[in-house]
Amino acid sequence: MSDTVLHRIGGRPVPAADRRTFPDIGPATGQRIAEVARGSAEDVDSAVAAAQDALAGAWGRTTTAERADLLDEVADRIESRLDEFAEIESRDTGKPITLAKTIDIPRAVANFRFFAGAIRHDETGFHRMAGALNYTLRKRLGVVALITPWNLPLYLLSWKTAPALGMGNAVVAKPSEMTPMTATALGDVLHEAGAPAGAYNVVHGFGNEVGGALVTHPGVKAVSFTGGTATGEIVAAAAAPMFKKLSLELGGKNPTIVFDDCDFDDAVEGATRAGFTNQGQVCLCGSRILVQETIAERFTAALAARAKAMVVGDPSDPATGLGALISADHRDKVESYVELAKEEGGTILSGGTRPDLPAPFDGGSFFTPTVIGGLASTCRTATEEIFGPIVTVHSFRDEDEAVAMANGVRYGLAASVWTKDLDRAHRMGERLQSGIIWVNTWLMRDLRTPFGGVKDSGVGREGGRWSLEFFSEAVNVCVKLGEKS
Ligand code: NDP
Repeated sequence: MSDTVLHRIGGRPVPAADRRTFPDIGPATGQRIAEVARGSAEDVDSAVAAAQDALAGAWGRTTTAERADLLDEVADRIESRLDEFAEIESRDTGKPITLAKTIDIPRAVANFRFFAGAIRHDETGFHRMAGALNYTLRKRLGVVALITPWNLPLYLLSWKTAPALGMGNAVVAKPSEMTPMTATALGDVLHEAGAPAGAYNVVHGFGNEVGGALVTHPGVKAVSFTGGTATGEIVAAAAAPMFKKLSLELGGKNPTIVFDDCDFDDAVEGATRAGFTNQGQVCLCGSRILVQETIAERFTAALAARAKAMVVGDPSDPATGLGALISADHRDKVESYVELAKEEGGTILSGGTRPDLPAPFDGGSFFTPTVIGGLASTCRTATEEIFGPIVTVHSFRDEDEAVAMANGVRYGLAASVWTKDLDRAHRMGERLQSGIIWVNTWLMRDLRTPFGGVKDSGVGREGGRWSLEFFSEAVNVCVKLGEKS
């Protein structure tokens, strides 16, 4: 990866039209790791025009089978460069290299491979009626905008790019300004795999500049957005009057609900993973841990002990469990919740501090895994999305109280329930206000299943046929049959 991260427009790496750049800071050291093209509305115009040209040209004439082969080729090429992609992603995000190697990059490979298969095997509707038959066509939308956050850069971008291209659209991607690298590397791979110029474009830069221009561009037919709920409101307000198709995957404050009939060790392990994976910076992280009062003391002690044992530091060390948070500003915001928790009457049971690390990591945005007890489940620390390695623990009496506490936030993205009682597991599935409910596991994903949130966690679903439907327009053709039919 060169020192300058450029846009990719019309199949070529290009600088910003006005030649402006901004620094990409490596979160593990606080040092500049690259300069990035700073996009503007002019660059967005160029990228949308390049995408429209692609649709009018070779890309617009591709068949489903050709696009499926392309997605498979992209998967193979990323897989063959897995270590290189993992290294770039870890440097750009501060996440442990082990996590990038085992989750982020393999999942990007899986996304391309999965959607190659999904479009090959896709079926559309057929409705016979008296005197006529109807069949459903799925037509591409045209140019689509993909706006993604910094926590899982390639993983989330590939989750949108694969179905968008698979359905024949041309893409303009806007990755987070803090993690530009793998979006550009994906452009290189698509180019090498034979994607026609302009099928996939990337414009780097800031949300209000590039993101805003993209969302309101009249040539963009749909916006697939993953990010915070506050930004989602801005994107929805801008896109809705233009009648664009809109998918919003937003924030969460997800409960991990532990009943006293659970497998205790599995539940402790699961709650730890759900709380601290990627430094707590996964939208699905379980940051509110609700434990039945009969086992609450023992469970909380075991959880705090696990958190204290986690290694925080050098992301390139395979022994590291927690790397750096995305930026110094974000670490400061996360840290401010420790102070808030104390004001709200909480007790810090583990962590709550910046670790003491040797150079060059003394300039990084690290924070220790933090477990907080003694808080009301309705306080700000327990209801606002912190998006860092902080979990709060609360005890409940019975199932009704657990459900009320779990549902008592504005979000509804994911929940995990730990119990051996099968009836209770099904009841919780019905009663929790959440788009995704795991029982005795966390982050286990079948890519065919619907993914998305309820309440303020989003609008729409991704995954399997939901993604294919979002990135296409269903059109009915009604054919009247002749008298003799
Ligand atoms: P943000 O909402 O800040 O940013 C997301 C993306 O939107 C970035 O590319 C950002 O650019 C861009 N953006 C910012 N402002 C605008 C605008 N006015 N118009 C268009 N685009 C804009 O989220 P974060 O990057 O901070 O990511 C963390 C959030 O994402 C958390 O709330 C997390 O829960 C959520 N998330 C949700 C997931 C889900 O599937 N539901 C999955 C992963 C994360 P820039 O970075 O340059 O500001």
